[in-house]
Amino acid sequence: MAYCPLDERSVVEYLARRPAMGSLFSDFNNLTVREVGDGNLNLVFIAENRFNPDESVVLKQALPFLRVAGESWPLTRERVRYEVQALLKQNELAPGLVPQVYDFDEEMSLLIMEHLRDHEIMRKALVARKRFPHFVDHITTFLANLLFFTSDLYLTSQEKKLLEARFVNEQLRKLQEDFIYTHPYMNSPENRWNPLVDDAVQAVKANPALKLAIMEMKEAYMTHAEALIHADLHTGSIMLNCSDTRVIDPEFAFFGPMAYDVAAVLQNLILNYLSHFAHTSSEERVAYQDYLLQMVREIWQEFARKFDALWRAHPRGDLVPASYWDFPGGAEAFAEYRRRYLHRLLQETAGHGGTKFLRRVMGIVSVWDLTSIADLTQRAVAERLAIRIGSRWVLERKAIASIDDLIGIVLEEASTVTV
Ligand code: ADP
Ligand code: MG
Repeated sequence: MAYCPLDERSVVEYLARRPAMGSLFSDFNNLTVREVGDGNLNLVFIAENRFNPDESVVLKQALPFLRVAGESWPLTRERVRYEVQALLKQNELAPGLVPQVYDFDEEMSLLIMEHLRDHEIMRKALVARKRFPHFVDHITTFLANLLFFTSDLYLTSQEKKLLEARFVNEQLRKLQEDFIYTHPYMNSPENRWNPLVDDAVQAVKANPALKLAIMEMKEAYMTHAEALIHADLHTGSIMLNCSDTRVIDPEFAFFGPMAYDVAAVLQNLILNYLSHFAHTSSEERVAYQDYLLQMVREIWQEFARKFDALWRAHPRGDLVPASYWDFPGGAEAFAEYRRRYLHRLLQETAGHGGTKFLRRVMGIVSVWDLTSIADLTQRAVAERLAIRIGSRWVLERKAIASIDDLIGIVLEEASTVTV
């Protein structure tokens, strides 16, 4: 079927024609459809049998332009194929942590997947101060498995290159190169910021040390093809409840720096931490902010522990053959190599995470945690902190020795707040 964007009515006819839907729906006459896309890029429909909500699917269709910017910003629909490929790979390597794919129609640029009925978007849940006891375990399994099993530490040289060749994703990568690592720090018409933090925004744009460091992070983003990264792993790409966690929306996936994904998770949790200076009053705030920072600490520690354990258990990749360490003292040398590797990942987490703090305050898209603060003066408190913490993470990244150094910067800057 030639490409045409679907609407709530045509979705029903479309689903009824797909053979794969025959086993999911008992009756297409009772389907209700609603468009729920709150994202920046695509149409997202939920279709369910009104008499049996167990029979439901999510249909995601790419539009030929960037939804957040309007029809004037063309974007290829090919991204759906990358999303499907990534979901299938993630399902294979981290089973149960992403939605199941039911169907894919390349011509129509759409995918049909499992409807996460009992899950909510993490970003909103964190603004509402909810807690998720299994999140640390789930997200660290996702990160460690995806990053390790798609890297040169596990794959043979040929396997890695063949897999990498399937994730060129040049268009969506370019969006991140521009909107995360370049445009926010120069004059570019799509940038938006709170006028009350204008002085801090201008100072970033004119800080040579910071601009140089951001360029180093961009260079890493563009050239370090370490593993298949999700590349948009913010808390708006996580749906969860008390017992289950799913990572959604991997349309940006490509072979990039591992630390970028870890950084996205940690940085978004800390941005949420900052937003509570406005959202939550004192006692409750302190408790929830402590919870968030503890989660940041545990995510790094658990990720590093799981990644190291996978590496020891499966030293299969061509980067360092296991027999390379067959010499007296080899076991210690291997342990030291792993330690250095993870230490470098932590420092790069600071660099990418720091850049991402800055772009959320001075680039094209902010986040709900901040935009839901109606009072611009209150919002400026969180935004100034984000700029200071982000700048320090980037500039001080090479001196970071442990996750507590990263958290220490957050605590030092946050201690200046007097609300
Ligand atoms: P975009 O790529 O346009 O940002 P997303 O994949 O983030 O789109 O989806 C937009 C919204 O649709 C999500 O925030 C979520 O509310 C809803 N959504 C997406 N996938 C699912 C799913 N599998 N189950 C339930 N809701 C979903
Ligand atoms: Mg998306």
